[in-house]
Amino acid sequence: MPTKHILLLPGDGIGPEVVAQTTKIIDWFGANSELKFTTSSALIGGSAYDAVGTPFPAETLAAAKKADAILLGAVGGHKWESLDISKRPERGLLGLRKELELFANIRPALCFDALADASTLKREIIAGLDIVIVRELTGGIYFGTPRGVETLADGTRRGFNTEVYTSPEVTRIAKVAFELAAKRGSRVCSVDKANVLECTEMWREEVQKLHDREYAHIALSHMYVDNAAMQLLRNPKQFDVVVTNNMFGDILSDIASQLTGSLGMLPSASLGNPGTPGVYEPVHGSAPDIAGKNIANPLATILSFAMMLRYSFAALREADRLEAAVRQVLEQGLRTADIMQPGMKQVSTHEMGDAIVKALQQAQALAA
Ligand code: NAD
Repeated sequence: MPTKHILLLPGDGIGPEVVAQTTKIIDWFGANSELKFTTSSALIGGSAYDAVGTPFPAETLAAAKKADAILLGAVGGHKWESLDISKRPERGLLGLRKELELFANIRPALCFDALADASTLKREIIAGLDIVIVRELTGGIYFGTPRGVETLADGTRRGFNTEVYTSPEVTRIAKVAFELAAKRGSRVCSVDKANVLECTEMWREEVQKLHDREYAHIALSHMYVDNAAMQLLRNPKQFDVVVTNNMFGDILSDIASQLTGSLGMLPSASLGNPGTPGVYEPVHGSAPDIAGKNIANPLATILSFAMMLRYSFAALREADRLEAAVRQVLEQGLRTADIMQPGMKQVSTHEMGDAIVKALQQAQALAA
């Protein structure tokens, strides 16, 4: 594989701490596999605002466009909450997603067996869970117009938003889901509200058409969103890949995240058209309450790098190796504070990063 360039955007709060642990993993793969990486860092979020007066500097966008993939920590914090909305750290993240047109948000919900008792659901419901929610990220009701709140002649107020999708927008996100399913369990469930909303009826028809035309080898089912929410809690393991619109995906992916036990464990990828660098980031935020204390869980970011290996670099074997190393470290009983359980050994952010490198090293030595 030619050398790949990864842009690091550590951001704010615990972002730099968890990204620093992940760079140890990037360096390890660079030194111990056929993969070769170069990295550079750029500013985003509150730290960018402090340094240059904007949360999304032009230099960062230029660097992002040149990268093969982007690893982001997190943005935000109380320090910047009183700024004008256009200057707030979150604008950096939204700007990046918009500029790169990252329309597909991929959130795996994978329950590591060692953490199955940390979830609020019963072990038998979630042990072995491995599903992916594919959420459309740049369309739908969050962006549709007309939108707003108006005051009517009689003094009452009327609020309105517009759920809108074009058939190419539906087709491109469905394609992501089918391609993903082809590399996993070959099943896609498309979630809509086709019994009530015309826009999602069109969604269902377009997904079905694409399936029949190009992906007949994938098992496709359709489900109404209310049922899907219930099924995710009742029997989440029935799913493989779930694809849905922006708003339904927002809600369902948060439900799915709770199936895995901890926010500190959840990776994500935001992908655009082929040739566009993907953005890989933990689902959690900048956690200002624990920033600088060396106690944050770096595993969500490390698992985001595993997603980068899989989706941006097609390095499936290395992604599997990294996920196996995470599994092994958890099985050894090492825990950061957020996933600490009785009888386990509590470790710091740095120690968790080092433990993953050690597990990779040991697995390599065993395989040799
Ligand atoms: P948060 O995810 O930062 O934190 C929620 C809780 O989870 C906190 O108690 C925190 O300590 C804990 N937590 C989060 N990540 C953890 C980790 N890796 N290890 C251990 N514990 C962890 O959410 P919040 O407190 O609502 O938001 C804080 C800031 O982050 C806000 O400014 C918000 O806008 C921003 N935010 C950014 C992103 C992003 O960059 N993608 C996402 C969500 C929130």
